[in-house]
Amino acid sequence: MSRVFKDKDNQVTQKYKKGYHDGIDLVGYKYALDYITAHSDGVVVSVRSNYKTTDKTGSSYGNYVKIKHSNYYTLYAHMKYGSVTVKVGDTVKKGQTIGYMGSTGRSTGAHLHFEVRNAGDVKIDPTPYIDADFTSDTSTTNEIEYRVHIKGGNWLSWVKKADNTNEGYAGIYGKSIDGIQVKNRVYQAHTIGGSWLSKVTKVDTTSSGYAGIWNKSIDGIKIENAKYRVHIKGGSWLDWVSKVDNTSNGYAGLYGKEIDGVQIKSL
Ligand SMILES: [Zn+2]
Repeated sequence: MSRVFKDKDNQVTQKYKKGYHDGIDLVGYKYALDYITAHSDGVVVSVRSNYKTTDKTGSSYGNYVKIKHSNYYTLYAHMKYGSVTVKVGDTVKKGQTIGYMGSTGRSTGAHLHFEVRNAGDVKIDPTPYIDADFTSDTSTTNEIEYRVHIKGGNWLSWVKKADNTNEGYAGIYGKSIDGIQVKNRVYQAHTIGGSWLSKVTKVDTTSSGYAGIWNKSIDGIKIENAKYRVHIKGGSWLDWVSKVDNTSNGYAGLYGKEIDGVQIKSL
């Protein structure tokens, strides 16, 4: 029996592939259709239920439900029009019906596109969880590790806390920062005299595995699902920021001012 279907066993029709297919596609055994059920207890945080068509060229989930669990999120996409039974704010129980399989949005046939996201709302491989409880795997808990790259220098050590000790921030006072990495979070940097760079969702040694451009000082950062602040070179710590948007409170930094310190902690 599948964890996310009411009666059927599931079979995988498209696997997870990071950056290409950030979820897993499931149908009932032998392509049977079924009601979709909540993977675990949680609260519904996002719903779309007014989508009537298939859109083979778009990127839409169609009708979908997103549920927040203690350390994870799950998302169920392409539901049949008229089948969604929950709304934002509803508490759901494991196994509760939330809709029916369909082909709304970017879909070529009825199936369930199932996503799992960590506490930072970053998509992770759902494969281990399709028919299993979530674990408290430390790589996907709320702990945030971060580090910065010194302009003309190197990556500094990873920082795991945010306090007044030398180990409680990333940076060296007086040295400009031109790169940042944040584990388990979606993050973004603004370059001095430049613009906001692409959102980064991972941490590795490729050019899409950090935020920044070598030798361009950063003067602003955005980190989703976190509290964060920056220290202005030659100045002081700015106020903590706890959201990401286009207002002056939606990022940490002052345009035109180099930063030399970063602190990040859980919300
Ligand atoms: Zn899919």
